[in-house]
Amino acid sequence: MAVVEALVASPGHHVTAGEVVEHLRRVDPGFHESTVYRSLERLVEAGLITRIEVDSGPAVYHLTTAPHHHVVCERCGRVTGVPADLLDGVAKKLLGAHSFELRTDAVTLPGRCIRCPEPASGPVSMGTGSALAHDH
Ligand SMILES: [Zn+2]
Ligand SMILES: [Zn+2]
Repeated sequence: MAVVEALVASPGHHVTAGEVVEHLRRVDPGFHESTVYRSLERLVEAGLITRIEVDSGPAVYHLTTAPHHHVVCERCGRVTGVPADLLDGVAKKLLGAHSFELRTDAVTLPGRCIRCPEPASGPVSMGTGSALAHDH
């Protein structure tokens, strides 16, 4: 149950297994990582928490409370919960136009936080480079 406490204590309620381990070690430094992974698995099986696969990083766990979707930043891997009704319109359109029923309980949308910096492309020169200089 300490694992659940770790989930509740985390802001936004979305944590990776590593973050749960970190949280628990603050309370009990001898905590075994494998115990955490086993507990997380059991909680997923019991339906108490949901595992969200993130392309760009470790899986994220959250408490199965109100259904909601997730947006995942491809740069920093941050997972944010967004309201479940966000995709109602999209789901309706898919059903009407494509006879496709979207699973609206588990949608993870890729993108990036507006504050995440552009990734540096190539080696960064320290002021002597001319990559940014224009010819005219
Ligand atoms: Zn980001
Ligand atoms: Zn969530």
